[in-house]
Amino acid sequence: MEIIKRGVPPGERVYTGVCRNCSTEVRFKRSEAEVHEDQRDGEFVSVCCPVCHSLIYGTEQKMKSALFSGQDWRDR
Ligand SMILES: [Zn+2]
Repeated sequence: MEIIKRGVPPGERVYTGVCRNCSTEVRFKRSEAEVHEDQRDGEFVSVCCPVCHSLIYGTEQKMKSALFSGQDWRDR
């Protein structure tokens, strides 16, 4: 079989977030996060801050830039 366009399984989707309490930045997979359904706002994901244990809300990262150069990954 040949993959024409590669998709991303839900659990492999990557999110980033910044802790509002201590400014720690994290990147995590959806499978590592808690997924919440909100009737008004749709779904959102959260993880526990590894530094101060506050809740960090994730923003989904689009994968296309990562596949090529990795420039958009905020590793620095
Ligand atoms: Zn924190």
